[in-house]
Amino acid sequence: MPKAPDTLPTVKISPRGATRLKDGHVWVYRSDIISADDVLPGSLIRVTDHRGKPLGSALYSSSSQIAIRMISHDPVTDLPALLRQRIAAAIEYRAPLVTDTEAYRVVFSEADFLPGLIVDRYGDILSLQILTQAMDADPVREAILAELTARLHPASLIERVDPRVRELETLPPRASGLLQGDKSATTFTMNRVQFLYDALEGQKTGAFLDQRENYAAAAHYAKGEALDVFCYQGGFALHLAPHCSQVTGVDSSRPALEVADQNAKLNQTFLKGKEIEWIEANAFDLLKDYSSSDRHYDAIVLDPPAFAKSKRDLDAALRGYKELNLRALKMLRPGGILVTCSCSYHVSQPNFLEMLASAALDAHRTLRLIEVRGQAKDHPVLLNVSETSYLKCVIASVRY
Ligand code: SAH
Repeated sequence: MPKAPDTLPTVKISPRGATRLKDGHVWVYRSDIISADDVLPGSLIRVTDHRGKPLGSALYSSSSQIAIRMISHDPVTDLPALLRQRIAAAIEYRAPLVTDTEAYRVVFSEADFLPGLIVDRYGDILSLQILTQAMDADPVREAILAELTARLHPASLIERVDPRVRELETLPPRASGLLQGDKSATTFTMNRVQFLYDALEGQKTGAFLDQRENYAAAAHYAKGEALDVFCYQGGFALHLAPHCSQVTGVDSSRPALEVADQNAKLNQTFLKGKEIEWIEANAFDLLKDYSSSDRHYDAIVLDPPAFAKSKRDLDAALRGYKELNLRALKMLRPGGILVTCSCSYHVSQPNFLEMLASAALDAHRTLRLIEVRGQAKDHPVLLNVSETSYLKCVIASVRY
């Protein structure tokens, strides 16, 4: 039953927490809570400042450091109905922005005003992730499923569980699996490239959808002999292949490379009969080897996993990025193209560009920036919530 706003539990926050909200952020940390008496885990709450002035409605977590995630400036009475409206709005928002793909992110948590919910679409399969106590409540789950089904008519809906997140949110363990329907694998097309998708396998929620527009941009500039380092299931390599004379993909995960090879087979026509070579190796070792044995390329993609999981890791992460970029730059021929990425939120765009400038100096290469890019538009960036912006993709050219 919807609750009248004045019967909602109230959480009082400190002036520091209130200032953060006034600056447009949507999180309040536990250390900024003054009182949260009798508030149940995952509740819809009323937030007030230290004097009791209302600041809006939010979802509460009893265990996360992010204790409060704001959902509205106004009183909210019927949470499932509000969430359904927001899912519909997220779908509508993407209609003019997302083209040339059957796979994209449908809901991106805070950036779609649905904190704690991620939904990806792979053709007629939807994959969802629930990251907070509030989104895990039964009436909320039912509302999410009902709206997604009514709007997108998926053949099946699958839940990908991150056990660590459930533990942090003190939610009971749950297995990943089908919530609706029985189809768990499909093929989808993105930028005219076909990909296999198996909802019950793979990293994250499957493919790296955030790189979709960067694949197309990289393909636009790449030529000659190309190396795709950290290639996973071949996202960049497959896009580059029609434009290049030779492409090699490198990853340390054999299962990822097996899918990459199947993806290449699926795209024979698109690849114009070109074969891609897949190498299972540690990228750091391979780049060290190759750069000291005088190998050269015309295009190199670097798309490593996030090196900085927290702010503490920043220096070590930047050293890791620099080593990779330095070695890649040494291997690029004059006029060669570097496509270098970082998906670590804690490495800012200025940090990343500074690292690249320093790698270029040490590699004795002069670089010109062609494009400084971010995540695809189906992963919106909420301007006042910097955490929603995490992907950097720089495309640069080595001076002739
Ligand atoms: N470029 C890919 C996504 C890369 S994700 C795409 O667009 O789909 C990061 C990849 O790095 C994963 O596939 C992971 O298996 C791989 N990886 C992690 N550490 C590695 C290492 N030391 N050497 C090589 N590959 C590594």
